[in-house]
Amino acid sequence: MGMDVCGFKPRNKQGEYFRNNVWYWRPLADYVCEVAPEITSACRHWQSNDGDGLTDADSVALADALQLRLDSGETAEWEMIFASEKAKIPKEPCRGCGGTGTRAIGLFETRDPFFDKAPCDVYDGTGTTLPIGLFGTDNPVDGKTPCRACDGAGQVYPADAYYGFKVENVASFVAFLRQCGGFGIW
Ligand SMILES: [Zn+2]
Repeated sequence: MGMDVCGFKPRNKQGEYFRNNVWYWRPLADYVCEVAPEITSACRHWQSNDGDGLTDADSVALADALQLRLDSGETAEWEMIFASEKAKIPKEPCRGCGGTGTRAIGLFETRDPFFDKAPCDVYDGTGTTLPIGLFGTDNPVDGKTPCRACDGAGQVYPADAYYGFKVENVASFVAFLRQCGGFGIW
């Protein structure tokens, strides 16, 4: 699941397209609306794929406003606060195994494409994915199998723990804004 931000009249390659998965787009959009409401209010639907967006003049003005905060270190500070707030989010009982850490054979086998690709750059440190929503395979030997959604721990992080905010992502968005000629969010 992602957001495709498309330039209306791109001046170069950078302005054609900006893409974020929902885990990065949502905090980015929250941030830009927080720091530059006088500009961003011209776009009412930042968090949905409705094609709403900004004009070229507003895009460039937003790029300037964001660049000021990148240069002053304010964006880096936002990233640190975001990460520390995220680290406070507690685990919750795993819905794949009801918190038991194991599951009986044939209980269910399902894949959730929304969660299956969730980036996990804070909690496992690998930048890879945590397969919550992927509930193990049958184990014919002992009649129970460790739950793969939680690796047998019985606890997982809730979806809120998957959101991410990075200075580099803001910088990439600024580069897009300068060259897009106005944009729509799809
Ligand atoms: Zn589990």
